[in-house]
Amino acid sequence: MIQQKIGAIRREIGQTQLIVVSKYRSMEELNEVYKSGERKFGENRVQEIIKKAPMMPNDIEWHLIGHLQTNKVKQILPYVSLIHSVDSIKLLNEIEQQAQKLNRVMPVLLQIHVSTDETKFGFDPNELIELAKSGILNQFEHIQFKGIMTMSTLNATNDQVKSEFATAYQCFLYLKPLMPNPSDFTERSYGMSGDYQLAIEEHATIVRIGSLIFE
Ligand SMILES: *Cc1c(COP(=O)(O)O)cnc(C)c1O
Repeated sequence: MIQQKIGAIRREIGQTQLIVVSKYRSMEELNEVYKSGERKFGENRVQEIIKKAPMMPNDIEWHLIGHLQTNKVKQILPYVSLIHSVDSIKLLNEIEQQAQKLNRVMPVLLQIHVSTDETKFGFDPNELIELAKSGILNQFEHIQFKGIMTMSTLNATNDQVKSEFATAYQCFLYLKPLMPNPSDFTERSYGMSGDYQLAIEEHATIVRIGSLIFE
């Protein structure tokens, strides 16, 4: 079942990268995903990655997609290949410090806030553009800025979701030339089970899908 669903999504999304969101799922389910050939797994909690990663084959890429607290950065860095949810300078400072200790350059996405949901994390698009213009991002030698991530408003109409993703894409286009290494800044992570088609129409390069695969 899982394998068929993944196959159908794969055929539909073409070149877009798929992150299989495995939060709340059992090891049995994760193994089904692995057997289907998928290697990019997304989790929204640090503890889940730390628990699951050692039990799974080590050619899996773990993506942290949920909010990251500064005090958990040190724990999670050795496990993750991309942090989607970087939403403050304070967090960037901590990632920089810990990545330096590990002698590693950590790839991240900058999370931007385009929804009308109060609870969602992320930089305000205009504030982020101002930050990038200020040159402050140049000081992070152990961070690779790979692109942006966002989430749409929960239960919004298709028109609203599309317009939020379009805002994210515009923000990406603005930011790219302001980045320390513009050629690294290529990814747009948006679109979940309910809105990944709209996300692809609005230039997503990465979709993060959970419930559609497992339910
Ligand atoms: C849970 C989650 C997803 C996947 O959501 P589904 O609706 O289950 O596809 C994607 N991104 C983030 C940040 C999530 O927390």
